[in-house]
Amino acid sequence: MTDFTDIREAIIRLCADFPGEYWRAKDAARAYPSEFVAALTREGWLAALIPSEYGGSGLPLSAACAVLEEIHASGGNGAAAHAQMYVMGTLLRHGNDAQKARYLPAIARGELRLQAFGVTEPTSGSDTLSLRTMAVRDGDDYVINGQKIWTSRAEHSDLMVLLARTTPKDQVAKRTDGLSVFLLDMRDCAGLSIRPIDTMMNHGTTAIFFDDVRVPAANLIGTEGQGFRYILSGMNAERILIAAECIGDARFFLDRACGYARERQVFGRPIGQNQGIQFPLAMAHARMSAARLVVADACRRYESGEVAGAEANTAKLLAAEASWQAGEAAMQTLGGFAFAADYDIERKFRETRLYQVAPVSTNLILAYLAEHVLGLPKSY
Ligand SMILES: Cc1cc2nc3c(=O)[nH]c(=O)nc-3n(C[C@H](O)[C@H](O)[C@H](O)COP(=O)(O)OP(=O)(O)OC[C@H]3O[C@@H](n4cnc5c(N)ncnc54)[C@H](O)[C@@H]3O)c2cc1C
Repeated sequence: MTDFTDIREAIIRLCADFPGEYWRAKDAARAYPSEFVAALTREGWLAALIPSEYGGSGLPLSAACAVLEEIHASGGNGAAAHAQMYVMGTLLRHGNDAQKARYLPAIARGELRLQAFGVTEPTSGSDTLSLRTMAVRDGDDYVINGQKIWTSRAEHSDLMVLLARTTPKDQVAKRTDGLSVFLLDMRDCAGLSIRPIDTMMNHGTTAIFFDDVRVPAANLIGTEGQGFRYILSGMNAERILIAAECIGDARFFLDRACGYARERQVFGRPIGQNQGIQFPLAMAHARMSAARLVVADACRRYESGEVAGAEANTAKLLAAEASWQAGEAAMQTLGGFAFAADYDIERKFRETRLYQVAPVSTNLILAYLAEHVLGLPKSY
């Protein structure tokens, strides 16, 4: 598999304009990194996965992984924009020709932002099939009432891919039926209110309230009632891309920690000469390298059209563990200075912790592997 050296070098050049000071200032102000997202958009990276017939670059998932990995390895954070890469996949795979022609070229040009993905709800959490937001057909529209939580980037997105219930749960033949996907235009959307949630890292996430929000029936993606399958089919790409970000985070931690360990002199010698410092870093390197291979394998399977659920989930699980362990080793290596914002370790430590919870938590991945790979009884 190609390593996309050209792409990596281009991203490293782009990220050089967005050093630690930039990300620290955004973090302190809880501000959206608009300049960084504009640069990514301008250079076409956010349209990497859109086929060329719609004006995108038509690159494979592994190329998009290289983009996100390098952003994170540089100390940046792709979460501000990564969803612009993959949320459109639902529209691409399941939308009709008119929907694709209307939206995909404008998304590829960066004129329309589609980076809000409304699935999680406060009362159902990981149990997506129990979500309650209702979409009821009324003439040429659907009328939506309910609430989403943790809808990231909604304040910086024009469109949202929304999963809502169109048939009450107790009236469906199969438990996975009755949910539908809509492409919601959030601009001037009567009845929609967005409330930012303050979180431990700068993530731009929100709670969204739908009060008789009307969405044209023409914006229903695919067949009514089949939406859960459409959302699931996009989750593998999301998990693999986020796994690549975690690999980038692990590389960042290792690079910074090893540099510090070589320089920092205590008791008359570099701290990196002590095995107590070396071994956690060496172990983190080994874990990152192993996870990186699993991410590459998941990409290969995804790109060849094989079912990649187990691989995508495993990649995300192992990469999130690897980044967290590398972060932990970096925290210990830098000692007191790890806690100083100027070193960027504490910021990245907070940022990378998310990936054991979102977009799917570690326990739910383990439950998936236990059931679908190991053939154990479903536990929930
Ligand atoms: C910063 C941030 C950004 C996010 N962005 C988005 C977004 O853009 N769009 C979106 O739709 N969602 C988003 N999410 C939501 C995210 O996907 C959920 O937080 C995640 O899926 C877990 O759901 P929950 O928080 O409701 O936890 P819960 O489902 O309440 O689970 C809490 C804990 O219990 C565990 N648990 C639950 N059930 C079981 C079980 N049966 N067995 C074992 N353990 C179990 C979970 O693993 C978890 O550790 C985001 C979340 C955060 C924090």
